[in-house]
Amino acid sequence: MRLCRDQVVKAIEAFEMLSPGDRVLVAVSGGKDSLALWDILLALGYEVDGLYLGLGIGDYSEGSGHHAREFAAARGLRLLEVDLRSEHGFGIPDGSRAANRPPCSACGLSKRHLFDRSARDGDYDALATGHNLDDEAAVLFGNVLRWEGEYLARQMPVLPAGNGFPRKVKPLVRLGERETAAYCVLRGIDYQVEECPMAAGNRHLGYKAALNAVEAQSPGTRHAFYFGFLDRAADLFRSQMAEVDQGLGTCATCGSPANGEVCAFCRLVDRATGDRDPTHDAAVRRVPVRLESRQADGVPG
Ligand code: SF4
Repeated sequence: MRLCRDQVVKAIEAFEMLSPGDRVLVAVSGGKDSLALWDILLALGYEVDGLYLGLGIGDYSEGSGHHAREFAAARGLRLLEVDLRSEHGFGIPDGSRAANRPPCSACGLSKRHLFDRSARDGDYDALATGHNLDDEAAVLFGNVLRWEGEYLARQMPVLPAGNGFPRKVKPLVRLGERETAAYCVLRGIDYQVEECPMAAGNRHLGYKAALNAVEAQSPGTRHAFYFGFLDRAADLFRSQMAEVDQGLGTCATCGSPANGEVCAFCRLVDRATGDRDPTHDAAVRRVPVRLESRQADGVPG
């Protein structure tokens, strides 16, 4: 347990993620990483609330919501909730079908938008997510394989606040998923073990499996790959981030940052619910959706 806390402290200090007294919103899925993160940040003295997003993925969502609520209730913590279906008219399985997008793409877009908005509305100093070293290395691997310059530019453990986005931090980047699982077991944290059923076929899982195989042959490679990138290569892609940020405006529908007249999430809602506005469709044709993602990943879970 001490190792996990020490590694989080090290990450927070090395990347200047948080300052003492910061109000932090943790995006909680009910899984091991986000609950371990919430627990560790509290132990380190931060003021931390949780945010759970109901994705409408049947039993999986029911189970993950249950674990998030149980964790918060047992400790007297504040858990904010946003329900995609009741508040925006669609769940990920049906919404992604109607919008003709892969489920993880619709899900990642929805999470980014709603997490950002909740952090902004609640005036939090930072939004923290439970991405661990395995996640980050796998995303980096995928982005390098396809030389996704824009995404590589954002593949950082901390993204500063700006252009209407909150500061985003990933304090678990120095921990592997086996370590966060062990932490939860030792701390008696009951978490959602089942994987999301929509993850099958997700490219990210293939990248993770490939890196697991390399790591088994050559321990430490994952860490060297990810932190070597941050040390030696990340700066090379910075200019691409600035280019995208320069083109950002404000969504005419919801007021969030947008690359066109209407943000990607509002366009998704239109498509997923069949509530098509011709203006929005014109915006969809003009603006490639991926440009609006300020975060570099679509990590499952
Ligand atoms: Fe969303 Fe993750 Fe499920 Fe994909 S695998 S639909 S990103 S929760």
